Amino acid sequence: MQPHDALRGFARAALALVYPPSCAGCGGATMDPGALCPSCWSSLRLIEAPLCPRYGTPLALDPGIGPLYSPRAIADPPVFDRARAVALYDDTARRMVHRFKYEDRLDLASAMARMMMASGRELLAEADCVVPVPLYRWRLWRRRFNQAALLARPVARRAGLPFEPRLLARVRATRPQVGLSRAGRAENLQGAFRVPQERRAALQGRRVLLVDDVTTTGATANAAARALIRGGAIAVDLLTFALVADPLG
Ligand SMILES: [Zn+2]
Repeated sequence: MQPHDALRGFARAALALVYPPSCAGCGGATMDPGALCPSCWSSLRLIEAPLCPRYGTPLALDPGIGPLYSPRAIADPPVFDRARAVALYDDTARRMVHRFKYEDRLDLASAMARMMMASGRELLAEADCVVPVPLYRWRLWRRRFNQAALLARPVARRAGLPFEPRLLARVRATRPQVGLSRAGRAENLQGAFRVPQERRAALQGRRVLLVDDVTTTGATANAAARALIRGGAIAVDLLTFALVADPLG
């Protein structure tokens, strides 16, 4: 046994003491920390091909002839190039995100990141660095951790990419996006993100993989991507754990 294996074994055992293995969806007993029980696993609505190459939303029909875009990707193209997510944000995915975010089940980050690696394979292959969507500082203080960074870090480490949480800053507090119209959301986020002056050189010409826990309308990711591109990034892709299915498709 290698020393780091022993250490990892120890870390796992320590983690199991803090978080007895329980299902990330329903809280029932499981074998593996952060894993899903068979029932929750089967109810997780994984996003699979065919999907819109821009928004990563599931498409009803497989065109069989190259990429077909969702109606929204044509009517309302995002600032980011491509978005991918593991699952639709309902039932099991919603419960997982809730446990992770509000019940401090930080042990779920590793399992969620593992799934994100698979869904984001194409994006990771071309990314130069991984950047989490930042929180404004008082919100960070209240929550004590940035859930996006907790997912982005293991994704970057496993992909062998630089983890760059300081390339993008949230410089303005924003109201909660819930209940705002699409235009209202965009307005609420105006000027919320900025690439710090001293980080601009580090961002020039890089293709960024932006990471967050959930994509709701894409407004937050768009605002973050716009700031990154203004700051010198050549392109931005978006990888999240869950995606709220868009009514426009
Ligand atoms: Zn379960």
